[in-house]
Amino acid sequence: MTWAPVRTTAAQIAAVAVALALLVLAAPARAAFTAGAPGLGDPFLPLAGNGGYDVGHYGLTLSYAPDTHVLDGRAVITATAQQDLSRFDLDLRGFDLPSVTVNGQPAAFARDGQELIVTPQKGIARGATFTVDISYRGRPTVVTDPDGSIEGWVPTDDGAFVVGEPQGSPAWYPVNDNPRDKATYDIAVTVPDGLTVMANGVLVSRAASAGRTTWAWRERDPMAPYLATATLGRFDLTTTTLAGGLPSYVAVDPQLAKGQVLSKLPDIIDFYSSIYGPYPFDAVGAIVDDAKVVGYSLETQTKPVFPYVPDEATLAHELAHQWYGDSVTLTAWPDIWLHEGFATWSEWIWSEHEGNKSAAQSFKQLYSTPAQDTAFWNPPPGAPGSAAAMFDGTVYDRGGMTLEALREKVGDAVFFRIMRAWAQDNRFGTVTTAQFVALAQRLSGQDLRQFFDVWLYQPGKPTSW
Ligand SMILES: [Zn+2]
Repeated sequence: MTWAPVRTTAAQIAAVAVALALLVLAAPARAAFTAGAPGLGDPFLPLAGNGGYDVGHYGLTLSYAPDTHVLDGRAVITATAQQDLSRFDLDLRGFDLPSVTVNGQPAAFARDGQELIVTPQKGIARGATFTVDISYRGRPTVVTDPDGSIEGWVPTDDGAFVVGEPQGSPAWYPVNDNPRDKATYDIAVTVPDGLTVMANGVLVSRAASAGRTTWAWRERDPMAPYLATATLGRFDLTTTTLAGGLPSYVAVDPQLAKGQVLSKLPDIIDFYSSIYGPYPFDAVGAIVDDAKVVGYSLETQTKPVFPYVPDEATLAHELAHQWYGDSVTLTAWPDIWLHEGFATWSEWIWSEHEGNKSAAQSFKQLYSTPAQDTAFWNPPPGAPGSAAAMFDGTVYDRGGMTLEALREKVGDAVFFRIMRAWAQDNRFGTVTTAQFVALAQRLSGQDLRQFFDVWLYQPGKPTSW
């Protein structure tokens, strides 16, 4: 990265000048302090996330005016330095920034694309916890991904549909936008009375004042940044308690026919809990919005969000992600089959459990796709190759088939032990495909290297494994 600030204001130049002056004055003490990296080097999204620190908590206090689309935000980020830090980056797209402070002191900052470069007055020692307080204001941008899909803060006719996979979160809050840096969240959003805000975790409070209502949500479990949401609009919100005391929040846009599918949610959660182990989080639910322009659903943590009334398979898919994707999360995006293959296979096992099409039948049906249909069989799901192909159909279908083939190779007893151990041993963690292969080998006692190579990494239709 080159340090090339854009849209620099006179105040920012003055702030940088002050920082440089301080740097000169304090040079001996700062000599060992270095800048955090501008990205974490993900093969698909190299600038996503930043080096040198780890976020523990985001406190987001937002106010949104749907008529003007203006978002007023304040982010209080608590982080721990992982090196002696002279400066560090956050990811943020757009917005004017009235102020940035670090540990209560005004900090210099500059913008370079999605990088917000923050230079505190004093270096931060490795291991020290520090607080960054950022005020920001503006119309959130909609991010278009390499595959053409849109994400971020997407306006709807009555609010906004808020999704961040893989890189939409910086469109609405300053963030260390990499799945490796999970954190807890407080998300409070003030909107005009009559609108509902759906964010992650449990509803802490709802307070009305002068025609506006503040919805405060708290996600107490670690969450990857792309799984945060603050979807808002007109919703009918149903709050219930499931077995074991789990609070459930189901919000449906009143313009949509309700559909009976959402009544399946508790049964799906129960079933997955029985095979994958306890539900990972302390809240559950769903957000069903009218946002056809987005066109895809997302497993936002504790409450997947849908742009229309989902069918049962889609609901089962997004709920399975709470185990595989949200609780157990990839370390780098090329391993996306660890999310999508698992959620796809979960659709099949839910169907099998319901007495409908079995997972073996789903496998067989897909496997009948001729080898000549190279678009179906490629790219191999373990190596989609680029950000534009990371949500290719093979990552889902052939990813799910990989698990069903594994099930048939090692037998049900071992297979379900593998699935459960993967979810439970890695709860709230980040993982790699190599770790999954190692677990499967350990629990099966089989050499599965060739099996996984054929299914995950070799182009074309697998013929022997
Ligand atoms: Zn999915």
